[in-house]
Amino acid sequence: MDKKIKRIGVLTSGGDCSGMNAAIRSVVRSGIYMGFEVYGVFHGYDGLIEGVIKKMNCRSVGNIINRGGTFLKTARSHRFLTPEGRKKAVISLKDKKIDALIVIGGNGSFRGAQELYREHKIPVIGIPATIDNDCHGTDFSIGTDTAVNVAMEAIDKIRDTAFSLERLFVIEVMGRHLGYIALQVGVAAGVEEVLVPEFEFDMKSLVKDIKKGHRKGKFSWMIVVAEGAASANDIARQIFDLSGFRPRVTVLGYLQRGGSPTAMDRILATRFGKAAVDAIARGDCDKMVAMSANTIQLIDFKTACSGKKDLNRDDYNLIKILAI
Ligand code: ATP
Repeated sequence: MDKKIKRIGVLTSGGDCSGMNAAIRSVVRSGIYMGFEVYGVFHGYDGLIEGVIKKMNCRSVGNIINRGGTFLKTARSHRFLTPEGRKKAVISLKDKKIDALIVIGGNGSFRGAQELYREHKIPVIGIPATIDNDCHGTDFSIGTDTAVNVAMEAIDKIRDTAFSLERLFVIEVMGRHLGYIALQVGVAAGVEEVLVPEFEFDMKSLVKDIKKGHRKGKFSWMIVVAEGAASANDIARQIFDLSGFRPRVTVLGYLQRGGSPTAMDRILATRFGKAAVDAIARGDCDKMVAMSANTIQLIDFKTACSGKKDLNRDDYNLIKILAI
């Protein structure tokens, strides 16, 4: 164990997602188990600047493993983007004699953590938690699996109506600039088409496929659109203009962020929490815990924030093959 580090802070930052609570629980309890004092920072980096920090005990994190969101609350902090804001955050840490920080969040939060280390040498370890799964170097981030499952369940319900009324549906899912959620849910829900920002799509050929399906007796059709590729309303309008078919539109929106985390997200969060505390104890810093080839690893923040994740083209093609 790094003898200098006695007190660890933990915060959640950026967009909330399911599994953050399970990660906090794991950090707090494994930290205490290993002899650290653990402090919860409320409201992300804003709370760090304001000094909204409370000492945690094992009971502070009871009954939260199954809850979505984050009981520490989260925020997008404009003040932390400035050196002055970060200086205030460091004063709060010093006030409470907190020696190291665990940040649960996405790429933006890790950029902030990098700055904290670069400017003030505060050791920080990150835990990737974002529904978009856009952290490079980890196969999975906490929250993505729950978001995909929530979207899948919603699409399963829409399928009942699409089938019964023989309707065409365009369903918009989250994912920011990535098509990860759209593709995963597209495979899992067995939809006819997925439109993602990573791969070009041609509306004329999409409409040709719909018409061909119609001639073959395929009257219900579900198209999933990633928010980063287009808006569902735009796609529906183009389909109507090109074919005369009037699709129904559903935008799943914030529904996908909440809810009780899946077993996969809880397990991942629990493993990541312990791994982050282990990393602090070893004296590691400026890194993110990651899951790669089913093994927990540590990845530099720089790599995690800079790389671009590829989307699985085989899965994309598979959806088209199975839509015959
Ligand atoms: P999500 O993927 O869910 O949106 P995120 O961590 O990427 O999560 P952001 O809003 O991008 O979410 O970042 C969270 C916070 O991290 C920002 O509000 C800001 O306080 C801090 N942050 C982001 N980028 C930087 C940066 N370059 N320097 C300092 N702090 C940053």
